[in-house]
Amino acid sequence: MSTLEHNNADTTSGGDTLVSVENLKKYFETAPGFLDRLFGDETSPVRAVDGVSFDVIRGETLGLVGESGCGKSTTGETVLRLQEPTDGSVTFNGEPVFELGGAALTEFRQRAQIVFQDPFSSLDPRQTIGATVRQPLDVHGRGTLDERNERVRNLLERVGLSADQFDRYPHEFSGGQRQRIGIARALALDPDFVVLDEPTSALDVSVQAQVLNLLDELQTEFGLTYLLISHDLSVIRQVCDRVAVMYLGEIVEMGPIEEIFTAPRHPYTEALLDSVPRPTTEEAQRDITVISGDVPSPRQPPSGCRFRTRCPHIIPPDEMDIDQQSYRAIQTIRQRIDDRAFTIPEDASVETTVEQLYDRTVDSPLPAVHRERLETAFESIAEGKWDAAADAMSAYTSICERSNPELDGDTHSAACHLD
Ligand code: SF4
Repeated sequence: MSTLEHNNADTTSGGDTLVSVENLKKYFETAPGFLDRLFGDETSPVRAVDGVSFDVIRGETLGLVGESGCGKSTTGETVLRLQEPTDGSVTFNGEPVFELGGAALTEFRQRAQIVFQDPFSSLDPRQTIGATVRQPLDVHGRGTLDERNERVRNLLERVGLSADQFDRYPHEFSGGQRQRIGIARALALDPDFVVLDEPTSALDVSVQAQVLNLLDELQTEFGLTYLLISHDLSVIRQVCDRVAVMYLGEIVEMGPIEEIFTAPRHPYTEALLDSVPRPTTEEAQRDITVISGDVPSPRQPPSGCRFRTRCPHIIPPDEMDIDQQSYRAIQTIRQRIDDRAFTIPEDASVETTVEQLYDRTVDSPLPAVHRERLETAFESIAEGKWDAAADAMSAYTSICERSNPELDGDTHSAACHLD
């Protein structure tokens, strides 16, 4: 598929802001589980979105990208007030969205729409597609029934379907056609702003390209502004003017699309880009940044930089002479000490336990100073003194652990202590 022309939105000089998001938070409270009830523990909320700020410039496509569960869909839904926020503000055309009520809220709901990911479940199987696309017009009482039906027929034609298909049911359509129906429904009220939540991820690659082309044409024709949510970097690159990269509920990097793809500044963005398969053998054999470990729980995100438990460039303390691989390994051991995640062999002596723990956790030889600190920590673990073990390793505390870097605020901004 050819690369889509990026539109002419003025995204470099501030432009005309349509949507402004400031310190948005969305936490989900959950009922305590069996173990929480047993031990009387309080549950922590899931911090799905934890203080994100960004502007969407009128006429642009801003991408929101990140791994599954990073909070990007919740961000989109909260911006549209489909979810109530925990904190923060959103302004739409200068109006405070979370304070709107009555007629002003109704108007906002007409002007800001969403296209959902799954074209199979987002359509009512018992309704004809004509009735489905007409529904927003019915709810908002636009025109007479004949006028509404006429608008639906025009929209069906415009999204590449036929007006004759008005009385058909969703099961008679392919995935790509159903997504076109979803797009027609989102456009029924003539919105200014559309959140596209993974609009092509359920579709075949060839159909994806057609739907992306359609969205691009519609943006130009109707002057739309998009927030495109996707985990797929090739989709983001194809259609977005700017992109914000999310990790564990926060934005870690934001900037113009080509700069982010050619000169990423945050280690997480680098790793995401490296994870995209390359077409040539030469490119496939390049040096890539590998991120290890699982994404931490959004209930208890790590202190400091949330990416520090996986970051391949975590910063050692000043003047500590240690290579990155050894430091990364030591950070993982420290995390396991904090989580009390080492099993201690039964009836083994302290010496044997230390030896076993060392063998299990250290792959390559360490300089004496680091080896001795580790052995001291493992001795404490063997004696069941977890706090003492953590203290023995406190010399390895990183700035990345102590302080959460903020986006540095330029056109291309990143939240990392490396800069
Ligand atoms: S702040 Fe530290 S841990 Fe976070 S991305 Fe930068 S180098 Fe990695």
